[in-house]
Amino acid sequence: MLFREENLPQEIKSIVTNLPFRMGNVNCYLVSTGQGFVLIDTGSLSGEAVLDKELERAGCQPGELNLILLTHGDFDHIGNAAHLREKFHTRIAMHKADSVMAENGDMFGSRQKANNILTKKLVPFFFGFNKKHRFSPDLFVDEGDNLVDFGLEAKVLHLPGHSKGSIGVLMASGDLFCGDLLESSKRPSLNSLIDDLEDAKNSLEKLKSLDIKMVYPGHGKPFEMASFLKSVS
Ligand SMILES: [Zn+2]
Repeated sequence: MLFREENLPQEIKSIVTNLPFRMGNVNCYLVSTGQGFVLIDTGSLSGEAVLDKELERAGCQPGELNLILLTHGDFDHIGNAAHLREKFHTRIAMHKADSVMAENGDMFGSRQKANNILTKKLVPFFFGFNKKHRFSPDLFVDEGDNLVDFGLEAKVLHLPGHSKGSIGVLMASGDLFCGDLLESSKRPSLNSLIDDLEDAKNSLEKLKSLDIKMVYPGHGKPFEMASFLKSVS
């Protein structure tokens, strides 16, 4: 039994924020559970004001945000995590393999590619992610972890490929938050930024074996899993 059947309402609200330097958009997802909220990803620092406003609009008060769940450690997803943890007195969860990115501000800490000193310095500069935004997660999540204790009828999938510590969150309803493994900025596809293609292919195979209805990506609009699979087969 993967899910405890609590039948909590699980309302998903998409929060889209702009990335700096016209690098596009990034999505965060606020799930209202009937027993507080869970926020999946936190955008880049440039999205702080929008996030603050949208959480307020949703009626999320300090003490009601049960968890901040990060799909991976890139700065466009973890930018406001430290700020929101403090504001809402909550906890941050992510996969251990990507925690080095949050702790050291090194987006290549869990990657094999682009591991040179220039990119290491340039990427944090572009995202404005400096020492004061770094943080240590409060808990680590991994394959199979059940999130019902946080009000979320969902389990964690380990989906490496974009980064080693990338995770997905699969709701009992069949809704999947896939982080940056898949994207739909133009059309649903495997992300163009893949660190380990073999891992990414295996992660995709894992998804094919599961009952997934809608996919909520880190970038682009939600899409149906079935039509995406048809387009890649
Ligand atoms: Zn991203």
